[in-house]
Amino acid sequence: MSEKISLADRLSKIKPSPTLAVNARAKALRAEGADVLNFSVGEPDFGTPEAACEAGKKAIDDGFTRYTPVPGIPELRERIVELYEKEHGWTYSPEQVQVSCGGKHGLYNMAQAMFNPGDEVLILAPYWVSYPAIVILAGAEPVFAPLSEDRNFDLDPEVLKKHASQKTRGIIVNSPSNPTGAVLSQEALEAVAEMAREHGWVVISDDIYDTICFSGERPPHILDVAPDLKDQVLILNGVSKSYAMTGWRIGYSLGPAHVIAAMNKIQSQSTSNPSSVAQMAALAAIESGRGFADMMTDAFRERLDYLLGEFASMEGVECVRPSGAFYVFPNLSAYYGRKAGDRVIDGSVAMSEYLLEEALLATVPGAAFGSDAYVRFSFATSMDVLREGMARLRKALAALG
Ligand code: PMP
Ligand code: GLU
Repeated sequence: MSEKISLADRLSKIKPSPTLAVNARAKALRAEGADVLNFSVGEPDFGTPEAACEAGKKAIDDGFTRYTPVPGIPELRERIVELYEKEHGWTYSPEQVQVSCGGKHGLYNMAQAMFNPGDEVLILAPYWVSYPAIVILAGAEPVFAPLSEDRNFDLDPEVLKKHASQKTRGIIVNSPSNPTGAVLSQEALEAVAEMAREHGWVVISDDIYDTICFSGERPPHILDVAPDLKDQVLILNGVSKSYAMTGWRIGYSLGPAHVIAAMNKIQSQSTSNPSSVAQMAALAAIESGRGFADMMTDAFRERLDYLLGEFASMEGVECVRPSGAFYVFPNLSAYYGRKAGDRVIDGSVAMSEYLLEEALLATVPGAAFGSDAYVRFSFATSMDVLREGMARLRKALAALG
């Protein structure tokens, strides 16, 4: 059938989210009866906390089912303000908070509100798959500053300087990081702060994994090292990861009032507001405190220790220890160039395909995160699945000739 409707030019510049695409493929294979083990998508395997579910049900029973204010309900924004005051000692007003349809959408609103064609936005690579696409959809250009495994994926200030230009408008930092789990050091954040101060950059701090840190301590934050930059920092967060609420779609952003107002203008003309019911559930989740995230973190730490032990005993597999989040990003490049029958494993895409087709293991190729040497495994899955998965991985790698 001929396609009579032509699509907008911008579509040729982005791809569908690879993490969501692998997840969909793994689920489709499972539905067909294949025993696929899903290490692809990053979403906690825990159920949403009871208090949040109850609040969502109550919202429906109470008829809280109409449009809400564009930036989100006042109670939720006030609670977010209190949370940041209590946890970090930073003062925001409710006008400096926007609730959006997930964290991804908050970032989308930010990019639409701040970036122009011709602007460059620095992204540290490996990066979360949606950063480049969201920057491109705003007409701006992503510029990648590589992080190296030798520095445990921390940012080298010299690399940062090398990738900055007259056109740089800002930088996205994500600590703990998806996909590496790395936390940016104080020194790295100081280097970012220095450049931001000198050149007037905006710093987007994606803190979506900030409650999942294995040391038990909060990672250093750009606003800890540079409180003077509060007018140049946009914070992105949400309940998806901290409260296992990925499907509820509630994220939030904090930042200078005029940027949040601009984001609200965009939200008013796009989604109007996030779901009223989900906002009530998110409010209850935040009010329930950090206990739930701490419980998940304990479980994730145990799984991580197991995985790292397994990788250490597999020939040619190198893996930096993540400091947070729930991903491992082993370097499998020692296997690139090897073969399985006629199939040559020439990079991470071929490796992930091989693992899916031959070992029924769904993973995300490092190429999707801008780093082909690696393959991402999400360990937001049970110990039984991890054990079976590692046995299959060991066998599949050993079969490569
Ligand atoms: N930032 C990062 C680094 C992520 O991994 C995710 C997960 N999708 C998000 C933001 C946004 O999460 P969500 O849209 O599910 O709230
Ligand atoms: N952030 C998660 C991941 O990286 C969820 C999928 C997505 O939004 O990309 O798997």
